[in-house]
Amino acid sequence: MANEIDLKLLNAEYLASKTIEKFGICSHEHIRVRDIAFALGATVIEQKISRAAASIVSVGNYATIRIPPMDSPERKKFSIAHELGHLVMNHVESIQKVCSDEDMMNWYQSSQETQANFFASELILPKNLVERRCDVAEVNFEPIIQIAKDFRSSLTTTAIKFVRLCPEKCAVVFSSRGKVRWFYKSPDWWPFIRRDKKLDKRTLAYDFFISKPMDKKPVEIDADAWIESNGINEIVEHSIGSPRHGLCAFYPLD
Ligand SMILES: [Zn+2]
Repeated sequence: MANEIDLKLLNAEYLASKTIEKFGICSHEHIRVRDIAFALGATVIEQKISRAAASIVSVGNYATIRIPPMDSPERKKFSIAHELGHLVMNHVESIQKVCSDEDMMNWYQSSQETQANFFASELILPKNLVERRCDVAEVNFEPIIQIAKDFRSSLTTTAIKFVRLCPEKCAVVFSSRGKVRWFYKSPDWWPFIRRDKKLDKRTLAYDFFISKPMDKKPVEIDADAWIESNGINEIVEHSIGSPRHGLCAFYPLD
């Protein structure tokens, strides 16, 4: 699995795991990103930032991370961890680095933003504390919701980590306004999922966006409702929704 992921991203995860090790963290209760930031020389300030999700200013051995006060605790945690990733990986070249919402959702490239996201994911959800819980017989949102609750991480961040560590081939898709916005799939699984595609009427996620009661259980559906045909006939979809967007996880039926 690991050889399908860019080396820069693996390095980002490695640096986060070293940070976890350095602070002797062996339980989810001990992952306090503000304390870790402070110990690494970064002060966190909650302050409205125009047109940005978070920023970091670094001069010498000192750094200041700014995050918006209105964000959820889970989002604040991710933003701090993301900015710490930039700091630890020496990305703050011109004193200040400003990161957008899109940067925080960039899981596709090997750019500095993707590296910072992989760093944040590993800092908040360390592999050695989470991997065992991702080894499940059936892929669905139950273990993801439980991990998110325990680690106080967002469902989105947790779902991505789950897919990254789950031994089963699976994918998570984030939709809004009836369209696929982005997805993350197992590193060794190659179905083609089109971004910006309108949700297929056969998907559970479609029901959510037309305000139809959505099946809350995992359901078997035609694979081509989600992915371009690659020899898979059926998949199992499990979807959850919030007022603005929907998250869906699915895996192929053998
Ligand atoms: Zn960034």
